[in-house]
Amino acid sequence: MTNAASGSPVSAPPDNPVLEARDVSRTYAIGEGWFGRRKFNAVSNVNLKLMSDELLVIVGESGSGKTTLARMLAGLVRPSSGVVSARGTELTKRTRRQIREFRRHTAIVFQNPYQSLNPRMRIGPALSEALNVARVVPKAEVSDEVDRLLTSVGLPVNYRLKYPLMLSGGERQRVAIARAIAGRPDVLIADEITSALDVSVSAQIVNLMLDLKAQRNFSCAFVTHDLSLALA
Ligand code: ADP
Ligand code: MG
Repeated sequence: MTNAASGSPVSAPPDNPVLEARDVSRTYAIGEGWFGRRKFNAVSNVNLKLMSDELLVIVGESGSGKTTLARMLAGLVRPSSGVVSARGTELTKRTRRQIREFRRHTAIVFQNPYQSLNPRMRIGPALSEALNVARVVPKAEVSDEVDRLLTSVGLPVNYRLKYPLMLSGGERQRVAIARAIAGRPDVLIADEITSALDVSVSAQIVNLMLDLKAQRNFSCAFVTHDLSLALA
């Protein structure tokens, strides 16, 4: 049946997934055996699709390869086999320009905020830096945008002056999230962002993520070992 025959307008092709993993595996060489180094499978044959605006929860126990998978989706680790694509383009076949674009559109937040935050940098400059790299607002508006970012993650604007060490774990994770969304990404990969936090703080961070996702329309791959969080 053709579109003409059915009388319907020509439909747009279905959206490409914003991120897709096809048969993705990652092995690490470990130890020194008699026959050279042995191989260890950290991730084996994962298939997933993250569609526009979707929330995809990836659950697995500790050591099951979640971080390795998250880093492959963010383009930070190369798969040993299989393919990761963003909007139909394989990550390994991108031009320099496409890599820059991908970096800007794909943010990752880690379990430990010190992986995303420089402990020697005050919060204000850390956020301005992210904004300057992403160039989403004119230079003259960067300072106001820092305030808006802090407000949107539920922190007072005078936190600009603080160092990460002066903050609680939950507050640090809020700053890491602010930094991640500074470039207005369309994909956010959250790798166990609540697992270092108390249950109540952890729930606040999950709610913050859901609010931001609704306001800012990004897709989210939410990685957790906590099945109760996944089912909530
Ligand atoms: P998870 O995040 O689910 O806890 P990871 O992806 O961090 O799992 O790790 C999966 C497995 O791969 C673990 O056994 C870990 O020790 C191993 N692994 C992770 N990264 C490396 C690496 N760079 N070199 C060697 N082994 C690694
Ligand atoms: Mg992990």
